[in-house]
Amino acid sequence: MDGTVVVTGGSRGIGAAVVQALAARGIRTCFSYSTHREAADVVAAGAADLGTDCVAVQADVCVEADVRRLFTAAEQLGPVTGLVNNAGIAARQSRVVDMEADRIRRVLDVNVVGSFLCAREAVRRMTGRGGGTIVNVSSRAAVLGSAGEYVDYAASKAAVDALTVGLAREVAADGIRVVGVRPGLIRTDFHARSGEPERVERLQRSVPMGRGGEPSEVAEAVVWLLSDGASYVTGTTLDVSGGR
Ligand code: NAP
Repeated sequence: MDGTVVVTGGSRGIGAAVVQALAARGIRTCFSYSTHREAADVVAAGAADLGTDCVAVQADVCVEADVRRLFTAAEQLGPVTGLVNNAGIAARQSRVVDMEADRIRRVLDVNVVGSFLCAREAVRRMTGRGGGTIVNVSSRAAVLGSAGEYVDYAASKAAVDALTVGLAREVAADGIRVVGVRPGLIRTDFHARSGEPERVERLQRSVPMGRGGEPSEVAEAVVWLLSDGASYVTGTTLDVSGGR
């Protein structure tokens, strides 16, 4: 794959695994992080060790100026041909009846508005320049609903799934594919941040494959969707969830 791939939230977890998997294939990346500068530096150094150009940019995906700065930095490496809309958050586990408005707004802002802003910037740069691929990182929560945990998060990921379908149809004629992945229970810091570090251990027996997934297993699906091997795939989302 030629060009540069923008990965949002590349400092940790699934995003870091995507940057690593792309770097291992010699694909240039420009990734964003929110606050964890040291983690971002480790990921960028890992790509450099593989001999692949990689730049880390502090950029909040919900802040338009930050998103523009992220894409400007990416274009300094080469034309943007890929975007992985990975940055995402869930707030602490809670029933809907106890949720404050600010919490719901923040989850929707990062997961939905952030994905739209990044997709918009990517489409502006890919149109008329040979196209590209956008991969939206959704969640099985979009289908399961996350009752008693974070229905706001599940709803935000259902919105991401709709973005995948609608945008794919808008830009297919411009040579831009828009696809998604729906991870299941993946071993990252995500669960600790939403209040239950042992969540994967608690729930993994309910997964048909009997285990949680690794970030690298999601990254491999993302890399395939970005590749020419997926050249006739658009407007759809692949479950990467061990059957969950
Ligand atoms: P994670 O380990 O918590 O990492 C989240 C990443 O997003 C970090 O790099 C973080 O940057 C970045 N980030 C957070 N808010 C941001 C913002 N406003 N602007 C820019 N970057 C931001 O989470 P993860 O498990 O890898 O999750 C990655 C994606 O997979 C998310 O969209 C999540 O919803 C989805 N997902 C995860 C699971 C799972 O089981 N882990 C399952 C389904 C879907 P900092 O390092 O600076 O904080």
